[in-house]
Amino acid sequence: MRKTALVMGTGISGSGAAELLLRNGWRVCVFDSAGANVPDGCEDRSFLSPELALKGVDLLVLSPGVPMTDDMIAYARLCGTEVIGEVELGYRYSRGDIVAVTGTNGKTTVTMLIKKILECAGIKSYALGNLGASFSAAADKIEEGAVVVLELSSFQLESIADFRSKYAICLNITPDHYERHGSFAEYAEAKRKIFLNQKNDDIAVLNYDDATVREFEQDIASAVYFFSTEQKVKGSYLEGGRIYFADRGVEYIAATDELRIKGEHNIANALAAVTAAKLMGVDNVAIRTALRTFSAPRFRMQYCGTIEGKRVYNDSKATNIDSTLKACAAMKGDTVLIMGGYDKGISYERFFAKLPSSVKRLIVTGDNAESIKEDMPAEHAFTFEILPSLYLAAVKAFEGEEDNVLFSPSTSSFDRYSDFEERGEAFDCIIRAIGCGKN
Ligand code: ADP
Repeated sequence: MRKTALVMGTGISGSGAAELLLRNGWRVCVFDSAGANVPDGCEDRSFLSPELALKGVDLLVLSPGVPMTDDMIAYARLCGTEVIGEVELGYRYSRGDIVAVTGTNGKTTVTMLIKKILECAGIKSYALGNLGASFSAAADKIEEGAVVVLELSSFQLESIADFRSKYAICLNITPDHYERHGSFAEYAEAKRKIFLNQKNDDIAVLNYDDATVREFEQDIASAVYFFSTEQKVKGSYLEGGRIYFADRGVEYIAATDELRIKGEHNIANALAAVTAAKLMGVDNVAIRTALRTFSAPRFRMQYCGTIEGKRVYNDSKATNIDSTLKACAAMKGDTVLIMGGYDKGISYERFFAKLPSSVKRLIVTGDNAESIKEDMPAEHAFTFEILPSLYLAAVKAFEGEEDNVLFSPSTSSFDRYSDFEERGEAFDCIIRAIGCGKN
């Protein structure tokens, strides 16, 4: 008899899951508390009670946005209905090697860079997952021999069961997403799940410079390799501005000034990608070509041009403190930083403690402006100002003497925009308008 699945959430992931299930002979129902975007051939069960929505359902598939505390999940478990996430579903139907990438920051950059390296090596690959391309939507269509480079968030990892990747990478773990995970320990636990089902013929790639990630080594069954900007490790490391890969011997890969992506955090990202690529057997020429030609995806420290002698950067994707600190550190010369946005309820004390002295002015706009101000130390060398809109903040930024105007919000965009992309577009438009007026 035809089996029935209920897919919760009908965004990119949920729609992809529904399509995959339909293609594979399932009867598919969907449920979305915000009103379902019902794919053809699916039955809409939104607004039914869990009891009715789960009637006759064999499998409950979760979109990453659904919290594990949702009543539907508790009810499904009570009834003995299997509950899995969208990534687990994709995994069950996929073929080929998977390179899975997680971390607080740098996932999209590393996922895309690995894909670029594989392209340069002539290996067919797909970049899927958290970067906005549903794994399930593509999983059963991937040809034999192709590689899936899969970006995974902590939300996606929470709901895996048997998911296993041949290569698994954890880039870094810094405080984020407490609204969902409750604590740093639980957030780190969700990230650690990327290694959960790996076996000894699989490979784990860990950031040696991040103490939380480095300690994952203790519980990993696969072969562990590291990357480090600080010391020699088994894996990839930096020495004297050069990238090396060490396994049985040591190989020179490239000089850091060949990299098109800038900043120390991007050197770490490159090291992570190089480690995975070397272990996949990719030759050094392909790796080097990719490092020389790969540019960061949009809204990641994106250079927007120079206006009145000031270099302007759009880093709208910076949705946590650490990513903004990295962007500040990557700027050459003095910087005026425009920041602020959705109030995640986090403390900015760590931010102020680590803010480089090259940041001379802070212009803050958004719902969390006042709480940032509350965490500011009494003694500080920068000037601080709150403005009511991004436009006014940008105009103000051009009034100083700094070399760089950096928009790096350090938090999510949901106070004023639907996502970081809409926010990034808004900043781009403002800069174009300011540029037209000035040049
Ligand atoms: P993710 O997919 O994990 O959100 P992205 O590659 O999209 O990561 O980058 C998100 C933000 O984090 C950008 O502002 C980017 O400049 C910054 N970033 C990228 N790599 C790192 C890193 N290794 N450490 C800290 N910040 C980073």
